[in-house]
Amino acid sequence: MDDPYEGGGIVLGKIEDILNWGRSKSNWYLHFGLACCAIEFMAMNASHFDFMRFGTIPRTSPRQADFIMITGTVTFKMAERIKILYEQMAEPKYVISVGSCSNCGGPYWEHGYHVLKGVDKIIPVDVYIPGCPPRPEAFQEGMIKLQKKINEQAIFNKRKRLKKEQSDDNK
Ligand code: SF4
Repeated sequence: MDDPYEGGGIVLGKIEDILNWGRSKSNWYLHFGLACCAIEFMAMNASHFDFMRFGTIPRTSPRQADFIMITGTVTFKMAERIKILYEQMAEPKYVISVGSCSNCGGPYWEHGYHVLKGVDKIIPVDVYIPGCPPRPEAFQEGMIKLQKKINEQAIFNKRKRLKKEQSDDNK
């Protein structure tokens, strides 16, 4: 992908690179705004920052979402709902945790008896975005980090590994 064939408009690359390039640049996301961080999220989606130029499309259903953004304070009451929504997403799926509250409990880390001290206690997080609240530029950096992660994933090797694990289980 980094070495275009000179002159003819031909790009040479591994299938895995091409698939990953497509996957990383066309992510649909389930937005989960929980508190004040979600206001920054709205700004990021507005015309000035234009999040869609990353190839990201908001979805309201977990079934068509590639990743979920947890944006705000995760109370125990909402934690259960977040876990259900995550489980309803199809593989491969990713999680971006936005802001101090979602990362570690934020201002509620000590006395917030009702707040989960990090969404990673219930679902795996791929990218953490720091801040209280993070600016829209920080969201964009988080998205670039997720794209890099997807770009580096080994699709075929992963399938081989899963097949091997399945055959080992059947022995
Ligand atoms: S991290 Fe700060 S801005 Fe974001 S939801 Fe928590 S208190 Fe609000």
